[in-house]
Amino acid sequence: MTDRYSVIGNPIAHSKSPLIHAEFARQTGQDISYTAILATRESFVSAVRDFIGQGGKGMNVTVPFKEQAWKYLATDIAPRAATARAVNTLIFKDGKIIGDNTDGAGLLRDIEGNLGFPVAGRRVLLMGAGGAACGVLPALLSRNPAALTIVNRNIDKARELQERFTASGNPSVTDYPGLSGSQFDLVINATSSSMNDVLPPLPKAIFTAGALAYDLMYGKGLTPFLKFAQSQGAAKLADGLGMLVEQAAESFLIWRGVRPDTRPVIAMLRGKE
Ligand code: NDP
Repeated sequence: MTDRYSVIGNPIAHSKSPLIHAEFARQTGQDISYTAILATRESFVSAVRDFIGQGGKGMNVTVPFKEQAWKYLATDIAPRAATARAVNTLIFKDGKIIGDNTDGAGLLRDIEGNLGFPVAGRRVLLMGAGGAACGVLPALLSRNPAALTIVNRNIDKARELQERFTASGNPSVTDYPGLSGSQFDLVINATSSSMNDVLPPLPKAIFTAGALAYDLMYGKGLTPFLKFAQSQGAAKLADGLGMLVEQAAESFLIWRGVRPDTRPVIAMLRGKE
């Protein structure tokens, strides 16, 4: 019998997840279906329970429900979802709802595996303190960067994030003007600025020679952040498409016990851009 999976979010119509998981299933010979479900904040929990009632085996959770899934839905939480306080992968098993988070692992696999850029020993700047930044911060710190700085417009949010991770990597925090005079090997834009074609107020000369500029946003070509990085001499530019496919592969591995080959799927999606 075909096992059922789905992604739930709002908006969801343009999600690439059904296509990505269909490709993974074809490639690995797994008999699954994967659909997209639109929910509201009010209907989110009941929509997930309905899907479980219909025999669903697992779900991906996307914007804006990752925190809700961690807080109100999961009966068991994987350690990396507990540190992130956000769930992007649900597993329905033996009457339990297990919550996991594959965003950080997906980002690392893209940066280190696909882009060949080890994080250990690098000076890292993480822009943003929202859901995406929370999801990727524990994974970045686990690689022992030389330094990790969080920058956010609302510095109180960045400080809250810092306090949670004092014991596991001790990140530092600043506002945008405070970045002046600092340089980084890896600058990750985990803000939603690129959605609105806006450049966060980064000072000039923040990229070291050989730096990687990584925007979690995808499907928008060169975002204002990536254009800025290019003009400032960053050696490598990347959008978040690779992370999207890698986090999906991590979910697929959890659900099916098989790791799909992500490269042909990334190439296929790039061909459609
Ligand atoms: P949130 O709404 O939770 O957080 C938004 C963050 O962006 C806040 O820190 C906010 O700062 C900051 N921000 C927004 N606009 C600006 C601006 N103009 N200048 C500076 N900072 C700004 O969003 P998420 O964390 O959920 O998502 C962030 C991005 O990551 C989205 O573009 C999303 O598509 C992408 N993403 C990509 C994934 C992938 O697989 N590639 C996975 C997950 C997310 P403040 O607190 O000061 O308001």
